[in-house]
Amino acid sequence: MGSPAIVGRFAPSPTGVMHAGNIFAALNAWLLAKSQGGRIVLRIEDLDAQRSRREYADKVMRDFEALGLFWDAGPYHQHDRQEAYQDAFERLRALGLVYPCYCSRAELNAQSAPHGMGEKAVYGGRCRRLSASGRAKLEEALARQGREPSMRLIVPAQTIAFDDAYQGLFSQRLDEDCGDFLVKRSDGGFAYQLAVVVDDAAQGVNCVARGYDLLVSTPQQIYLQGLLGFETPQYAHFPLLCAQDGRRLAKRNKDASYDELLAAFGSPEAVLGHVAFVGRLQDEDAPATPEELLRTFDARRMRERYEGRVSIAFG
Ligand code: GLU
Repeated sequence: MGSPAIVGRFAPSPTGVMHAGNIFAALNAWLLAKSQGGRIVLRIEDLDAQRSRREYADKVMRDFEALGLFWDAGPYHQHDRQEAYQDAFERLRALGLVYPCYCSRAELNAQSAPHGMGEKAVYGGRCRRLSASGRAKLEEALARQGREPSMRLIVPAQTIAFDDAYQGLFSQRLDEDCGDFLVKRSDGGFAYQLAVVVDDAAQGVNCVARGYDLLVSTPQQIYLQGLLGFETPQYAHFPLLCAQDGRRLAKRNKDASYDELLAAFGSPEAVLGHVAFVGRLQDEDAPATPEELLRTFDARRMRERYEGRVSIAFG
């Protein structure tokens, strides 16, 4: 038998209109999967019900299509997947690895040890060490406020290392660099780390290209895959497109929104070509379709261009 078919994914969060950073993310995922003869799954990451909007999801899909970034399966929506997340959560609980956390945001800020890379707060473990009576007291106090505890997963003193296709070898000591992490939020919603691992496995995703900001989440996700009996995908973390002030592109950067770029550049191909040029996927600032970019795409060369690079200024 040959190696399994490659399946990559677009995983936009429909919390705003698409900007250059989202286009760059989807293009990277598409190129990495297609360059290996793979397919693309579209998953709408609307786990955050408060911030997600149906109209943003619809618009993102129309924009992908306009850019020629077609998907082969989906769209799947995270809001339809509660049972699958619950099932995984119960399996983790049955392993005795889940405990309630009563900490408020302010308490968390106060107890999280500053992290070396400054990218992730490490939970100090207060609620894992509670006595039964201490736990009961906090449970009661929270219930009086009409609130529920969040749920954390216990991590061991284990190092998780993997070879990122773009960033090379990356490793973290789970207890020191991650800490016990959330699998369920205090509002009852499942946490990103759990949902993404369950979805990637269920949707057959084995090739994940995403932004550098999620590199530090990957060891946690690999740990979860191990506990739940899932295969670990191939990972490739590319630099984030940033505004000139160094902050990652977001809704506030109006001039980087797809519609503004379309108005400025005149065609979807010109927008895609420009994003590809800035993101080092092509050497000239010329209009391009995804298929044209695929002809010269070479993941090994991208590693030379992306390794160790956290961000690229978009302009
Ligand atoms: N939904 C996330 C985002 O839009 C991506 C999550 C992932 O790729 O794992 O940034």
